[in-house]
Amino acid sequence: MIQVEGLHKSFGDHEVLTGVDFTADGGSVTALLGPSGSGKTTILRSLNVLETPDAGVVRISDATIDFATPPDRRAVKALRSKSGMVFQSHHLFPHKTVLGNLVEGPVQVQKRPVDEATAEARVLLEQVGLAGREDSYPSQLSGGQQQRVGIARALALKPEVLLLDEPTSALDPELVGEVLAVIRDLAAESWTLVIVTHEVRFARDVADQVLFLDNGVVAERGGTEVLTDPQEDRTQRFLARML
Ligand code: ATP
Repeated sequence: MIQVEGLHKSFGDHEVLTGVDFTADGGSVTALLGPSGSGKTTILRSLNVLETPDAGVVRISDATIDFATPPDRRAVKALRSKSGMVFQSHHLFPHKTVLGNLVEGPVQVQKRPVDEATAEARVLLEQVGLAGREDSYPSQLSGGQQQRVGIARALALKPEVLLLDEPTSALDPELVGEVLAVIRDLAAESWTLVIVTHEVRFARDVADQVLFLDNGVVAERGGTEVLTDPQEDRTQRFLARML
């Protein structure tokens, strides 16, 4: 499970997160929606400590950091190991094969045996519909296939939660569906997912919890009724623009 309390983050004079609180149960899908610049990516990056919040507490299962004091490296490593991150663009290693991309983290970072990591990587590739593409290089794959490798690579590190930052927004429209289908499967398999997305219909289909961000706070929260029957003016205005 994920617990976030009182998250604050400024970049210079710009206060981007002004007190974000939420919890997400294990096995649940949380969708973060909101206007550009509302702080969605900063929240995800804070969960993975790619950004260091100025204040607040982040807990993912048994790893907790209270950012009231600067965290030490061990605490950052422990929290970071709980989540895998999928970015807008996949950030694959271009000079490594698909299999090489998946095996790199488990072997180099987690010091797991190559045979074991390779066997698990093959299972993950099958799961994302890419069995048989082990020896391809990223440049030989479509954007949707590359993004599916990106998801498999994040899963290869066996995180407890998967953080997805607009995983389809850099894709050509005809490739969006195949990536959303993979994420749908993960949700059905009870992965704990936090996903920043502009795909309102997708969020409505898969989310257990919807957080609507505006100006660095959660302006509205709930189940998918936040998307179908929003109560706040700003949520209504946002959705009217999106649908
Ligand atoms: P989008 O939907 O456009 O991706 P978002 O809701 O994810 O937006 P963030 O990316 O979290 O918003 O950014 C929130 C604000 O913080 C923006 O005004 C952005 O310019 C600013 N910001 C984010 N990262 C940095 C940074 N490293 N340095 C300075 N400002 C930043």
